[in-house]
Amino acid sequence: MVFSLVLFLSSQNIEAQRKKKDTKKDVTEEAAKTPKEKTIKDLVKSSEKIEGLFTLYRDTITGSIQMIVCENQINNEFIYFSQISDGVSDVGRINRGSYNDSKVFKIEKYFDRIEFIVQNTSFYFDPENPLSKSKDANTSNGNIASIKIEAHDKKEGAYLIKADDLFLSEVLSQIKNPSLPGESPTAFKLGNLDKSKTKIKNIKNYPENTDIEVEYTYTSPSVFNNGSNAVADGRNVSIKVYHSLLAIPENDYEIRFDDPRVGFFTTQIEDQTSTSSIPYRDLIHRWHLVKKYPDSIISEPVEPITWWIENSTPLEWRETIKEGVLQWNVAFEKAGFKNAMVVKVQPDDATWDAGDLRYNVLRWTSSPEPPFGGYGPSFVNPKTGQILGADIMLEFLHFTNRVLYDKVFELVSVDEPFNDSNTNKDNFKYCSLGEELHQEVMFADAVISADSNSELQMERVKRESMMALIMHEVGHTLGLNHNMKASQLFSPEQLNDADFINGKCLTASVMDYAALNVTRDRTKQGQYDDVAVGPYDHWAIQLGYKPFKTEMERQALLDESTKPEHIFGNDADDMRSPGKAIDPRVNVSDQSNDQITWAIDRIELSNDLMKDVKMRFTKSGESYQELRRVYYLLSNQKGSAANTISRFIGGVYVERAMAGQDGGVQPYTPVSLEDQKRAMAALSNYVFAPNAFNAPNDLYNYLAMQRRGFNFRLPEDPKIHDQVLGYQKNVLSQLLHYNTMQRISDSELYGNEYSLSNFMTELNDAIFKVDIYGNVNSFRQNLQLEYTNNLIDILTGKQAERYNNNAKSMALYNLNAIKTMAASSGDIASRAHKQHLRTLIDNALEEIK
Ligand SMILES: [Zn+2]
Repeated sequence: MVFSLVLFLSSQNIEAQRKKKDTKKDVTEEAAKTPKEKTIKDLVKSSEKIEGLFTLYRDTITGSIQMIVCENQINNEFIYFSQISDGVSDVGRINRGSYNDSKVFKIEKYFDRIEFIVQNTSFYFDPENPLSKSKDANTSNGNIASIKIEAHDKKEGAYLIKADDLFLSEVLSQIKNPSLPGESPTAFKLGNLDKSKTKIKNIKNYPENTDIEVEYTYTSPSVFNNGSNAVADGRNVSIKVYHSLLAIPENDYEIRFDDPRVGFFTTQIEDQTSTSSIPYRDLIHRWHLVKKYPDSIISEPVEPITWWIENSTPLEWRETIKEGVLQWNVAFEKAGFKNAMVVKVQPDDATWDAGDLRYNVLRWTSSPEPPFGGYGPSFVNPKTGQILGADIMLEFLHFTNRVLYDKVFELVSVDEPFNDSNTNKDNFKYCSLGEELHQEVMFADAVISADSNSELQMERVKRESMMALIMHEVGHTLGLNHNMKASQLFSPEQLNDADFINGKCLTASVMDYAALNVTRDRTKQGQYDDVAVGPYDHWAIQLGYKPFKTEMERQALLDESTKPEHIFGNDADDMRSPGKAIDPRVNVSDQSNDQITWAIDRIELSNDLMKDVKMRFTKSGESYQELRRVYYLLSNQKGSAANTISRFIGGVYVERAMAGQDGGVQPYTPVSLEDQKRAMAALSNYVFAPNAFNAPNDLYNYLAMQRRGFNFRLPEDPKIHDQVLGYQKNVLSQLLHYNTMQRISDSELYGNEYSLSNFMTELNDAIFKVDIYGNVNSFRQNLQLEYTNNLIDILTGKQAERYNNNAKSMALYNLNAIKTMAASSGDIASRAHKQHLRTLIDNALEEIK
């Protein structure tokens, strides 16, 4: 069909050229006589023709575009996909390389109009089942555009429509984010889409896809907030978007269904004709990888997955990046493919750019305030799950020592879920490994700077963490989502054994956000990060790509999920956010199968460093910015390790094995009494104790930012008490969360031996016992007041109704105990504090009477 159209259009072009030579007079006379229906030929007279899947005509005078829709494209389906070519982080996730979801649309003709209808692909009806006749019931397709036909060439079977309305508006996809309820009225906002300034930047047309880059301009006559430095003029903001219309691939791609024991990105589809309680036909996302020699045990693919290193990539990183990508070939070999991944470098004089869908590019940018350090999006055919393209975005910031201090501080003091709500419903597409790693690399740097061979060690850290980041992001583009349980693979002793871990992935999977392996005993330091993909990765790649002869063969491989090295839990299960999930093993920024021991070690290591941080990080002739950075870095490490420990209290281990599976255990097993008590003791010691966050007092005199004009967070003095309370509040928000307390009560029925009363008594003791009868220092006063207010909130706060009665009774019991303990004693400040406590409690007791 494309070929016939091409022939027709080129002959037409010659015709147009010839016509141009006609005199103006003839044309106007002809038009004046009879208002003759215009032909395509007439209408594209002054246009440049751009052939491809949808042939386009761009007017050489006005730049406006028209599009040919062939008769044989009507009632056919196509894929629409868009990505951000360039944006500004001021307006949310609108950044270079951000992918939007792909969707299937159908072209229909309605009288004199061509319509673009987005198809609902979320449901499946067995065509054999009579119910399939009602398959459109109560689902909605989306008519996104209905455009008048300008001309019809019956002979060639082509319609011409004006395409500006399709591409120069938000018809194809919503670009500007809607205002959120409760959004600050002073927040930076995009103005209204300005049609006169919105324009087409670029058209690339190929037989299989039509790509149009559009620069949208949003204007507003006046703005309250002018945005960050990334915005030159807050009244006029440009966002560039690539729109792609693609033919649905015609191939023998084999769809594969999801299984909860392994973590692939999926497109969720529900079988409406199934009576099962799990009517899922969720398609995993995978590439169309086919053996060149199907009978060989190992064969090269017909078409490998080719990666291009963008020509903006620093030269010194290219080899490491390539090595990282090619590590996946080891996993593919187990799935029967040799050289499944190929890496090339984009030439400096390449005529294509990284936004070109036909190229999978490892991209490199240095943006102001980037929202991610690495991001590995892919886009798929929604009908099959076949991955059609992918990119990886890397941000230079995350390989520097530049830190946005305010952000570092907020990271620990703000109690909010880390998972961004701006994700597609099935998948957590945004990856913050780059940010996590950035913190970890800076921590390693601080530790290593005391080593004798620190430069060499740092080279190693940088190289290994880059490898790990690349392997992780490439893993996403192969269809894998996160495995936040993978760090359970090795014990702290194994991680401290340089020979044992040499050459390995330090966890079961590169898809975790594991902490770097930094040993407290510096003589034991071996590898810092992953230099190979893990055993879980090998297994997952086989499940995604191995050409199985039978379904039984695939099931047998799935049944290996109970092997310790195939341990799996994703973002939905991870315990980053207080109160959200239940298995403490599924977490980020941790390491080893004994996270409590590991976390204590990390805190001790930070404490070791804090002792002489001033001496080591103050450089003659320089400001104290570096010292300030390291101080916050070490404190944050302690705060983060404390969070890891806190998740064990009330924790319940979750297993994904199916019933009857070899090696499978029951889905829910509460954390042992011993480990819960161990966690409580560690929190008591390292988070709540009067001296838990002690730093040499004269350090505070030096925590000054380097000045730069008037850019300053005011007032500028270090907020030490707020900072320490921030860490403690994070831990309390987990321990005293209504979900945690309810789970402790419930799990007493199925194996939890750390009862709610026992836990709450020990917590109360940890916060009061050592000092309430004497002097209470200012950190502890803060903590005790905060905790007392938390107990009061359980009874009378906004969330009070979410707490179970057992928790309420214990809160009341503890408040009475505190009131008794907090008798007037100690110095004046301590007496004032205790009086404050008693007054709060009295008022609360009065309220619940
Ligand atoms: Zn990730």
